[in-house]
Parts: sequence; structure tokens; C-alpha cells
Amino acid sequence: MTIELSQPRILDRTAITDARGRVFRDLRISLTDRCNYRCTYCMPREMFGADHNFLNRSAMLSDDEVVRLVERIVGLGARKIRLTGGEPLLRPGIVDLVRRIAQFDVDLALTTNGSLLPRLAEPLAAAGLRRVTVSLDSLDEEVFAALTDTRFGVRDVLAGIAAAEAAGLSPVKVNTVVQRGVNDGPGLRHLLDLAEHFRGTPQILRFIEYMDVGTTNGWSEADVVPSAEIVAAINARHRIEPVDPVAVGEVADRYRYIDGGGEIGFISSVSAPFCGDCSRARLSADGQLFTCLFASRGTDLRGPLRAGASDDDLDALLSNRWRERADRYSETRGSGSDGGPRIEMSFIGG
Ligand code: SAM
Ligand code: SF4
Ligand code: SF4
Repeated sequence: MTIELSQPRILDRTAITDARGRVFRDLRISLTDRCNYRCTYCMPREMFGADHNFLNRSAMLSDDEVVRLVERIVGLGARKIRLTGGEPLLRPGIVDLVRRIAQFDVDLALTTNGSLLPRLAEPLAAAGLRRVTVSLDSLDEEVFAALTDTRFGVRDVLAGIAAAEAAGLSPVKVNTVVQRGVNDGPGLRHLLDLAEHFRGTPQILRFIEYMDVGTTNGWSEADVVPSAEIVAAINARHRIEPVDPVAVGEVADRYRYIDGGGEIGFISSVSAPFCGDCSRARLSADGQLFTCLFASRGTDLRGPLRAGASDDDLDALLSNRWRERADRYSETRGSGSDGGPRIEMSFIGG
């Protein structure tokens, strides 16, 4: 009888692993907690109105502080950095900051609502940004307006996507968060419209299951449309088949149209959690490190930075935090992964 041996995990010199053996690879940085949209599922206006206390300038990490932390974190094994927020393109000096972060040997990407890309795509690409993900929850102007509560429209986001493609930030990924009864449409028609729109283009549409991030959006499991339902509806129109993941820890299940119409993805953290190989940490705009999207507490890095911590001090703080990490919220669901109320997505970075 032949016994199949599991393959040893090959770790490179700098890899650090957490309490569940997961390697640290990805960093998401929230560059601001502000946004020019008020998506009902992320920053509902009732909670994020004129009297909301956004971070003031001195509370936020400066560009120098962000770059110093990036240098330490890349040294500890980060290979992918995603800039996010809030809306990252609202951060003053974003192009210069991208240029500085792009000096490191990392795959540098950014997630945006797309509204400011018509102006910024080209300078960002020239500064060294490699990839961009644009959020677009509906092609229907009315549904879009009700969901995003902003003066921008679908047309502006599509112009942003076109600007990103033209600037070479291709292929643009497009994120659609799906909420039952909100942007699915009768018989999932609005989702099929989105799929049809991006079919045959270089853009890769990804449907995301609505998640219980934060505490302000009133999430209920009944609002979630499981990815399997959308896969079946798309497959009934145009046959699709799964594609092998490119890398360990990839969050989207990738599919391709059998007739060559391109790729489409599904992020199913509710119906099929992927904590098992989660390699991500998040840095909030005020310099706290979170090791799970559903955490309630972060590790303060701004305090030590401003108190004159040495590189070795910061490395020890960061690597110890990762080594003790045991988060697996999506596999268990309930209170925050560390027991308290979950932090908001706009603060921690999507
Ligand atoms: N403002 C940028 C944007 O909208 O792309 C970047 C930050 S936003 C928090 C990042 C991503 O998180 C967006 O694609 C957004 O749709 C997604 N998101 C926000 N709240 C979510 C939730 N409750 N469930 C699933 N995705 C969510
Ligand atoms: Fe702003 Fe993005 Fe949140 Fe919408 S999802 S409110 S665009 S941060
Ligand atoms: Fe990673 Fe936390 Fe999401 Fe699980 S729930 S995949 S540990 S961020």
C-alpha cells in the first residue's frame, strides 16, 4: 500500500507563522477613515453623519510613519500590499505616498470606489501602482444611488474603470457586494446584467457575499445571497467552469466562461469561509494593527513609533503579534474574533 505523504510547507527565510501555522504575506493599509460615499452597508449616513468624529490629521499616521511601517512589515515577509480605506483616493498626497511604497519589492494594489480614478488613474500608475480593484454594486443608477448615497453615479465609476484600464492598471477587478432584495434584482437580473456587462472585457467581476463586518449595518444572514446561487444563474446563461487558484490564500474562487468570455470570481466568506490560509493583517489609518477583519481590538503601533521605537522594537512587536494570532471568525461567527464588538470596515480597511 502506498501512503501519500503531505508536502512539507516551504517557508522562506523571512516567513513568520501564526498560532495556526498561517504565514504572514498580505498587508492592507487603510489610508483614511473618510469617504465620499455613504454606502448603506458600510458607512450608513445615520451613523456617519456631520457629527461623526473622523480621525484628525495628527491622529492619523503621517506618510513617513506609513512608509517606516511598510519597510518593517516587508522585512517580515509581506509580499502584497493593498491600499484601502475609507476611500484611499481622498488622502491628500496619495500619489506621492504610492510612489514611496512602490519602492519596496511588493505587489502593490489599491481598492477604490472609482469616483476619483478619472483624474488619478494615470498619475497613480506612473507612481508605480500595479493593480486596482473598483467597487460597483449595480449598473442601475437608481439602485446604485440608493446604496451608495453619493452624488457620483454609475457613469462616473465606469469612467474610472476605463481610465484605470487606459493607464495600464489592467486587468481591473470589479467588486460587487450582493445583498438580497437590495441589488440582486428579480431572478438575480441585476447581477446577470453586471456579469453580461463585463463578459468579454479584460475586467474581472467578483461577487462578494455580504458580510457582518462592524456593527452599524444591521447585517442578517437572510440578506446574504450564497455564491452558489449566483454561479448557477450565470452558468444557466453562459457555461462557466472553475479555474485553479494562482496563489495560496487567494480569497476569490475563480471561474472562466467556457466560450472564452473571460474570468469571473466569487468571494464567499459567509458560505465557504477561508480562514484556513488567511495571510492578511490590516493597518488602520491611526496605526493599529488588526489580524482579522472581524477583530474588536488592534495593536497600537503609532504610540511606539512616536515614542522613538527602534527597528528591532517594531519588528518584535509586529512578529510577536502575528505569532500569537489565532483568528478564524468566519468559521465560527458570533462576537468579534477576540470577543468584543467588531470594528467598522471603513476604519479597519476593506
Ligand atoms: N472605498 C473603497 C471601496 O469601496 O472600494 C475601499 C474601501 S471599502 C471598505 C472595500 C470593499 O469592502 C468594497 O468593495 C466594499 O464594497 C466592501 N465592503 C464594505 N462593507 C462590506 C460588507 N459588509 N460586506 C462585504 N463587503 C463589504
Ligand atoms: Fe466608502 Fe467604500 Fe465604505 Fe462605500 S464601501 S462607504 S465607498 S469605504
Ligand atoms: Fe482572515 Fe479573519 Fe477573514 Fe478569517 S475572518 S479570513 S481570519 S480576516
